[in-house]
Amino acid sequence: MSKTVTESWAAMEPKAKVVPYQLELPTLGPNDVEVDVEYCGICHSDVHIIDKEWGDEASRFPKVAGHEIVGKVSRRGTEVKELQIGDRVGIGWYRRACLSCEECIEGYENLCPHGEATCFGASQGGFARKTIADARVAFPIPKEIPPEYAGPLFCGGITVFAPFRRFGVKPGDHVAVVGIGGLGHMALKFAKAFGCKVTAISSSADKINEAKEYGASHFINSSDEKQMKEAQGTIDFMLVTVPKKLPWQQYTALLRRNGKMAIVGAILGNVEVPVMTELMVRQLTICGSITGGRALIKDMLDFCALHQIFPKCEVTSVNHLNEALDKVRENKVRYRMVVKL
Ligand SMILES: [Zn+2]
Ligand SMILES: [Zn+2]
Repeated sequence: MSKTVTESWAAMEPKAKVVPYQLELPTLGPNDVEVDVEYCGICHSDVHIIDKEWGDEASRFPKVAGHEIVGKVSRRGTEVKELQIGDRVGIGWYRRACLSCEECIEGYENLCPHGEATCFGASQGGFARKTIADARVAFPIPKEIPPEYAGPLFCGGITVFAPFRRFGVKPGDHVAVVGIGGLGHMALKFAKAFGCKVTAISSSADKINEAKEYGASHFINSSDEKQMKEAQGTIDFMLVTVPKKLPWQQYTALLRRNGKMAIVGAILGNVEVPVMTELMVRQLTICGSITGGRALIKDMLDFCALHQIFPKCEVTSVNHLNEALDKVRENKVRYRMVVKL
């Protein structure tokens, strides 16, 4: 099958503005679909990759980033069974998984050591008119979810949805979401829909009204020592969505005995927690999570369709991709940026 060249937007070197670029797509494999991209979300990881903040392996140039892809199937490989031409699908952090290794068999396709991340390394992402992915990790988007808001579910959304399922959060649990940004605002919506008591924790006191709109019944200003102290020992499950190191013991102190802290913010560095007094005597769990496997993504899409949960997005044309990337770089988006192709 002949190779396809598509219009894309690439950074030619680290930190460079993206420019139009003729991208040669890989050959369509038997299990692949070609997708006409309609929308692509911008995740902080795209900026890390373009700016080469994760090293040589992550960033090869020219680099076409973008891994929150929504589009319609335009070609099918010979073995593709479920997807039809014209079906609207979403593709997230990984566009391939082997589906036969131990991780894949156990439902952790997101951890497949033989998989391919959508815009990592030599792989080119969704800031392009067309892209190619394995049909088995391209997920049909329920019609109840508006396509312009669907993209961010495939990276940001699953990142905060998966921990609720994996760590067994129950209705009635007191959930705290640390950081009210792209990830955090979606986590508040999920927590509310799961029937939890929801507290938002943020250093931006001006986010209180929006946090409440997204489902928080309580708000803690983390810069206010008194508020942090009053909340000690009250939280069953804490989701840390901020990408920076925290004064960890001030946060674990908020957990009830047997409480869990799940970290999904890409924090470089270590977590320091006293073993005896916190992990043993109070039986706390500190854990982490990264995107999610296929079953969880399907579960999340059904959940979002049922509860009408979508991220709050700013949608702009791909012609403004540089401005949009800068806004993400500067943390000025409330709360998720999407470009229309
Ligand atoms: Zn991402
Ligand atoms: Zn695998």
